[in-house]
Amino acid sequence: MQYQVTSLNLVVASHADSDHITGPVPAVQQFKPKYFLNNGLAGTTQIWQKLLTAAKQAGTQGLIARSQVINLGSVKLTVLPPPPGMKNQNTNSVWRLVQYGSFRALMTGDSETPETKAWLKQLPRLLSDRSTCTRAFTTAQRTGTGLADWPPCDPRTL
Ligand SMILES: [Zn+2]
Repeated sequence: MQYQVTSLNLVVASHADSDHITGPVPAVQQFKPKYFLNNGLAGTTQIWQKLLTAAKQAGTQGLIARSQVINLGSVKLTVLPPPPGMKNQNTNSVWRLVQYGSFRALMTGDSETPETKAWLKQLPRLLSDRSTCTRAFTTAQRTGTGLADWPPCDPRTL
C-alpha cells in the first residue's frame, strides 16, 4: 500500500515485454481489476503467462487497445493503439495520453522509430504539443530512438 491505492479498475500494459508487465502481476492479484488493456500480442515469457493466470483468476477481462477515450473520473485516458504494419512488441506499444486538469503525460511504452514516425504523421497536432514531451523524451533516450524522430521534443528547443 505504498501509494495508498485501494482499488484498481483498469490495468494497462503498453506491450508484453517482461520489463513492462512484471509490476502488474501483484497488482492484478491483489486488486482484481475489471479490465486489462493490452496490444493483443501474446508475450513469450513466463511473466506473461503469470500475468494471464493472475488475470484469469481475478476475473479480469482482457481488452485489446483501440482508438478511444476512457473517462476515469477527473482523469481522461486517450488510448492510441499501435499503427498497422508494426513488426514487434516494442513497435506495437499502446500509447496512452493521460490528462488531469492541465497535466498531460504521453506514455509511449517502448515504441521505436517506425511507430513514432507513423504517429507523428497521423497526429502531428497532438504530438507537437510540448506538454506531451517529458515522458516521450525519456522513452526515446532509454530505447535509443533518435531524437530527430520527435522534433517538437528536441531538448535544444525546449
Ligand atoms: Zn519492450
